[in-house]
Amino acid sequence: MKRNFIAGEWVKGDDCAENINPSDTRDVIGAYARASRFQATEAISAAHAAAPQWAESTPQQRAEVLDKVGSEILARHSELADLLAREEGKTLADARGEVLRAAQIFKFFAGEALRIHGGLAGSVRAGISVEVAREPVGVVSIITPWNFPIAIPAWKIAPALAHGNAVVFKPADLVPASAWALAEILSRTDLPAGCFNLVMGRGREIGDVLLEDSRISAVTFTGSEVTGRRIAAACVSRKGPMAKFQLEMGGKNPLVVLDDADLDLAVDCAINGAFFATGQRCTASSRLVVTKGIHDRFVAAMVARMSALRVGDARKPGTIIGPVVDAAQLREDLDYVDIGRREGAMLTGGHFREQIDGKSGFYLEPALFVATTNDMTINREEVFGPVAAVIQVADAEEALAVANDTEFGLSAGVCTTSLKMASLFKRKLEAGMVMVNAPTAGVDPHVPFGGRKASSYGPREQGPHAAEFYTTVKTAYVQP
Ligand code: NAD
Repeated sequence: MKRNFIAGEWVKGDDCAENINPSDTRDVIGAYARASRFQATEAISAAHAAAPQWAESTPQQRAEVLDKVGSEILARHSELADLLAREEGKTLADARGEVLRAAQIFKFFAGEALRIHGGLAGSVRAGISVEVAREPVGVVSIITPWNFPIAIPAWKIAPALAHGNAVVFKPADLVPASAWALAEILSRTDLPAGCFNLVMGRGREIGDVLLEDSRISAVTFTGSEVTGRRIAAACVSRKGPMAKFQLEMGGKNPLVVLDDADLDLAVDCAINGAFFATGQRCTASSRLVVTKGIHDRFVAAMVARMSALRVGDARKPGTIIGPVVDAAQLREDLDYVDIGRREGAMLTGGHFREQIDGKSGFYLEPALFVATTNDMTINREEVFGPVAAVIQVADAEEALAVANDTEFGLSAGVCTTSLKMASLFKRKLEAGMVMVNAPTAGVDPHVPFGGRKASSYGPREQGPHAAEFYTTVKTAYVQP
């Protein structure tokens, strides 16, 4: 059984869970400990005890630890990608991309650890100078979802440690293997015991411990909006000081295709954004908002391309779409397919395939709804699977209004050959990330990531902006 990592030791849980391959449900990847509530508290105690020492570490020490982690991920990227594809179900190519990104993130924050600068200002009072410095926040709880099992942990753990914080990390219970592999790499660095702790288990069983303990100074969360709201409430209403919190949640991302778009490019963007990684990306293009002059050609080209999207075992060469992550997510996706049909939308694909190549997995053919309106349930609620809907609109003005008519605001895209339209949509789309002639999903590791409205709360993640969350600013007034 793979154990939790607490105070520098590998410890058994009270209980354990089997990690199942969604491409082949007979394949058990391993048994992973589930931490008890007591162990979660022990992890917090360990982090709290270690935090002052790590806060005093030199930038060079932090850089060396993070660089070493990045180098090992790079050196082992094929093995780690295979593990990721096996437990989560994204294709080997996508898994490799995710693992390499995790390595890049550790390397980037190794550099950031050496670039933590303050500022100096004059005072309005004579004889006084003002210093502005960034300090670690203390102990950070890191709670992550299942859809990016190594990249999201990396983009939270690396900046937390780079800025001198201690960490208690709880990965999603569906995908503990990649998280455990990352923890094992961290366990062999020169991080002092207790600076990094791994507690695996279910959010509903140990999650509240990681929010309510007043020794936790900050909580960074990525996951669903429902859980995000719970986390916000717990951080604010707990006894003692409130916890700082950062939430990255759902999306209902529009990809606008205007009459003047390059059709092939627009279809590439839509197929990638809607269906790659089995549509299980918070940045997936789930609403394809298409003006009427190009609509019929766009739909015909999409349907033609979809027939070539081979669904199958995530690790089999040639697979384009891997399985849905588990039975519960599959059921939810199929329910939305039914809802779309009942609301009168026309469907291509969307069938459950019980077996492919003799393997039982959670296989779902990509689903494209046409003749939909923006008020249908499938266009309002996040469907976390390979399901997209085309909404026909009259012109660019209506496209913009429909694109922004959603409670979410993570990513948005436009396909157009007009510079004027590209500039207009770039300015007016209400999203944290805007893509011009590019899929709504697929982002760089060194620049800010995050959204607006119900998609996000708090400072941006990644790139130099990550400092906002992982540090607290001190202003010192000095009279010599
Ligand atoms: P989820 O909200 O079910 O779980 C996320 C994490 O929260 C898991 O580790 C879970 O164990 C934990 N959790 C659950 N209940 C908790 C509680 N009461 N207290 C503390 N922790 C708790 O989300 P999921 O199903 O794992 O992930 C899918 C969701 O994540 C989608 O909505 C997707 O859009 C979102 N997501 C967002 C981004 C982004 O950056 N905006 C990125 C990836 C995924």
